Amino acid sequence: MAKATSTKTASKKASTKTAVKDDKTLLQELFVDELKDIYWAEKHLTKALPKMKKGATSEELANAFEEHLAVTEGQIGRLEQVFKLLDIPARAIKCEAMEGLVKEGQQILEDTPKGTSVRDAGLIIAGQKIEHYEIASYGSLVQLAKTMSRNDIADLLQQTLDEEKEADQLLTELAVSGININADNEED
Ligand code: FE
Ligand code: ZN
Ligand code: FE
Ligand code: FE
Repeated sequence: MAKATSTKTASKKASTKTAVKDDKTLLQELFVDELKDIYWAEKHLTKALPKMKKGATSEELANAFEEHLAVTEGQIGRLEQVFKLLDIPARAIKCEAMEGLVKEGQQILEDTPKGTSVRDAGLIIAGQKIEHYEIASYGSLVQLAKTMSRNDIADLLQQTLDEEKEADQLLTELAVSGININADNEED
C-alpha cells in the first residue's frame, strides 16, 4: 500500500514538472466542457427557431425569431473560432437544459390555438427562458476566460453575450408594446 502511494505521488510530481501545452488544468477542462455544452445548445436552437417563427402570430415576433436564427448562426461560427484559438476540435456535448427549454417552446405551440396573441405571449416566455439560459452560460464563460487570461476569447464571447441580451430585450419590448395586451383581450 505504502509503496503504491509513494509511486503515485512521484509520478504526479513528475507529470507536474514536465507539464506541456496540452496538459490542461481542471478549470480549463471545465471551460471546454461548458463550451461544448453551449455549442450543442446553439446548434439545437437553429432547429427550433424556424418552428417558433412559423408558429408566431405577429409578424414582428416572427421576424424577431428569424433574425435571431441568423444571429445564432454567427454565434456558432464564433464558438468555432474559440475552439480554434484553444487549438482543439469543435465538439458538441448534449445540453440537457436547452433540450428541455426547446421542448417547453414546442409545448406552447401544442397548448395554444393557432393565430392568437396568447400563443405569441407563450412563445415570448419560451424565447426569454432560452435567452436567459444563454446569458447565464456566456456570462460565466466570459468571466472564466478573463480569469484564465484569455482576453481574446473573452472578447469573442462578450459579443455573443451582448447579442443574447439584445434578443431578450427585444422580446420584452414585443410583449409590453402590444402582444400581452392583445392576449389579455382575446376571447377563449
Ligand atoms: Fe445564442
Ligand atoms: Zn447548455
Ligand atoms: Fe447544459
Ligand atoms: Fe439567443
